[in-house]
Amino acid sequence: MATTLQAVRGMNDVLPAEIGAWQHLERTLRELLAEYGYDEVRVPVVEPTELFRRSIGEHTDIVEKEMYTFTDSGGDSLTLRPEATAGVARAVIANGLLRGARLKLWTSGPMFRHERPQAGRFRQFYQFSVEAIGFPGPDIDAELIALGARLWRRLGITRVRLLLNSLGTSAARAHYRAALLDYCRARESELDADSRRRLQGNPLRILDSKNPAMRALIEGAPLLTDYLDDDSRAHFAALRAMLDGLGIPYVLDPRLVRGLDYYSHTVFEWVTDALGAQDAVCSGGRYDGLVGQLGGEATPGIGFALGVERVVALLQQVGGVPAAPAPAVYVIVSGARAEAQGLRVAEQLRDSLGKGAVHLNLGGGSIKTQFRRADRSGACLALIVGDAELERGVVAVKPLRREAGQSECALADLGAQVRKWLEEESWTST
Ligand code: ATP
Ligand code: MG
Repeated sequence: MATTLQAVRGMNDVLPAEIGAWQHLERTLRELLAEYGYDEVRVPVVEPTELFRRSIGEHTDIVEKEMYTFTDSGGDSLTLRPEATAGVARAVIANGLLRGARLKLWTSGPMFRHERPQAGRFRQFYQFSVEAIGFPGPDIDAELIALGARLWRRLGITRVRLLLNSLGTSAARAHYRAALLDYCRARESELDADSRRRLQGNPLRILDSKNPAMRALIEGAPLLTDYLDDDSRAHFAALRAMLDGLGIPYVLDPRLVRGLDYYSHTVFEWVTDALGAQDAVCSGGRYDGLVGQLGGEATPGIGFALGVERVVALLQQVGGVPAAPAPAVYVIVSGARAEAQGLRVAEQLRDSLGKGAVHLNLGGGSIKTQFRRADRSGACLALIVGDAELERGVVAVKPLRREAGQSECALADLGAQVRKWLEEESWTST
């Protein structure tokens, strides 16, 4: 016997039992993003490796050890995207969309990172990525956060908190970096291997360490907030005032740094206490240097990425997934002639019903079996297409959601009659 093949570790199938939650989240986000004036774009899943090196940064976990990189048969180094912001920035530059424009864009799809698979952390995972390019803020920063807050309300998700910080300008960070280096060098023996490595390339990343043994050292480190220049402080203060005005609560977290180098000024993260260790469900920030860094005209930007699997898990916890709509009609067929006629009846109903699914019994079966399938489908009405009825030019109908007998309908009137019956049964498509 051939061995069965398994999916790649950390890469999941999404099966019909779970797809309702995914679709509900996707539908809700699509509607909300349109309401806030965002347009969808689709960018490739594979990009030149160079794009991620130049945007995310050489000394980040993603670029150092998490990318799926390969050389294609033409000899080019390509990478499965670990996130979408870099691709969207590349796309607006390469397609000449900038030129002083103000762009509100979103994209969604799978991302790939070679991380250690565990609950809430996968090697292929899905993100919604929302990007506003050409807005200096802080008004857009506040609106983007308000959009997130509204999303949680619409989804009925309450166990999320907003963490907020400012990374300031790159000049302020350079200043701070020196202070942090002094602090860490004086305690080099207490650093774990990862942090020691980061000391060389990107000491700010030490603050993002998830190693509990590093906690005390991180707690005592100098704060970036104390090194912000006046403009950064003003931007951050204005954002906070706007959030206060909107009544959106936040927690200031001076140690919130993000795992990607392109962030500046505002950074934020929606976190939950309902999913265990993987608590970040939506993370974002301002990336004013990114477009310039990738060769476009200097253009400010801000965005966030929402982790779909983690939000789906929250949705399932709160039971916020609407039930899948039941079909309107299940067509039962009985007899040799009826089989061909059943197909035609089902197609005719699909034409005339517009909304509402029509399921047709396929592959035969006794009447009893077919009625059982009809019941299980959740359909409102069963239509019985039988040889005997066809002789008389009629089909039989039976309501399935209540005790009731069968009645008949002329084939010629079927569409109109079924619509009427569905109304009487108070059937709705949702
Ligand atoms: P984390 O701190 O959990 O590693 P991150 O800082 O790497 O997250 P981002 O790169 O900003 O996160 O990605 C945005 C969102 O995508 C995260 O908030 C999270 O919800 C989700 N996400 C990130 N990595 C994974 C993964 N490996 N599996 C599932 N979801 C993920
Ligand atoms: Mg990560």
